[in-house]
Amino acid sequence: MNRRNFLQTVATRTAAATALGLAAGCGARQVGAPVPNADAIAQDSSLPEINWQMATSWPLALDTIFGGAQEVAARVAAMTGGKFTIEPRAAGELAPGLEVLDVVQQGAVPMGHTASYYYVGKTPATAFGTALPFGLTDRQQNAWLFEAGGLEMMQQLYAEKFGVIQFPAGNTGVQMGGWFNKEIKSLADMEGLKMRIPGLGAKVMDKLGVTVQVLPGGEIFQALQTGAIDAAEWVGPYDDQKLGFHKVTKFYYYPGWWEPGPTLEIQVNLNEWNKLPQEYQEILKTAAHEANTIMMARYDAKNPAALEQLLSESDVQLAPFPDDVMAASEEASFELFDEFSAADTDFASIFKEWAAFRESIQKWHSLAEASYMDYASTKGS
Ligand code: CA
Repeated sequence: MNRRNFLQTVATRTAAATALGLAAGCGARQVGAPVPNADAIAQDSSLPEINWQMATSWPLALDTIFGGAQEVAARVAAMTGGKFTIEPRAAGELAPGLEVLDVVQQGAVPMGHTASYYYVGKTPATAFGTALPFGLTDRQQNAWLFEAGGLEMMQQLYAEKFGVIQFPAGNTGVQMGGWFNKEIKSLADMEGLKMRIPGLGAKVMDKLGVTVQVLPGGEIFQALQTGAIDAAEWVGPYDDQKLGFHKVTKFYYYPGWWEPGPTLEIQVNLNEWNKLPQEYQEILKTAAHEANTIMMARYDAKNPAALEQLLSESDVQLAPFPDDVMAASEEASFELFDEFSAADTDFASIFKEWAAFRESIQKWHSLAEASYMDYASTKGS
């Protein structure tokens, strides 16, 4: 079967499964359980039974971001009639939360679900796969990755550096700026703070005099509670409420200028990827694509009520970062991009393409998108 026919067949079957209420989003069918309407893929005895473990960077409690990994697994199982099963595991089970890429690269685990910017220490260009400070929103990130050559460049980088292939599989949208144990009235108040923040945002904060730490999501609460850190960012109201940060800090700032639209991704060891039948490769790609959409939708659907509840249940003060913090952060971000470009040829070549795309999409989005949002949020009924 050629690829076009195969994809058409999958689309037809997915529609049929949805109509019968069999799609993963419709119910609680366990991953790996047989699909009642077993389709031709499941009946094709030439397709192997494969069971994979998936290392993730996430705590189980977060049905948004860990949910992205679960979505990939559920969709792959549904589309293969239970022949290809993947078991997502919480951070720390198969690998520490910030070492998912390491175990996938080694082949100790065939695949992972993580954020590429956790690995900027290996090569700074990994940041483009997630987010750059003052970079792209969710929509813009998808446009760059899928339609402007971004994913192709990132996949080439991963293949060369890590022997891994990756696909976008989730996004959080613009994040919040995080939780602080003291009021930030101006840039001077940032100096000396100990803050949990990963990726290039951490390097920008460092330039502002902040002492940065990278901790996995499951370790932030305790660090805040014990005073080991003075501030922390994670994602936004829904996740942050679950992790309980409002119980141990007083000030909640926005926006998370370091993460305007961070992409999460699945990472697959290239040797394992190459061993998969082409049908399973296509299914895995499709499942990742679906998780990419569903995670963003879930955050958007859950964040508004979570924020309202957070504010009504605690005396947390919500505030925007002061203008001088925003301006100094943007300046420091572009200084950092220049430094990375001078030191790293991979970063330099991807940055050139990325910066040109950013400029053009921001011009376009500043028209209809921005003016509509501005009217709807401030002047509309
Ligand atoms: Ca974050």
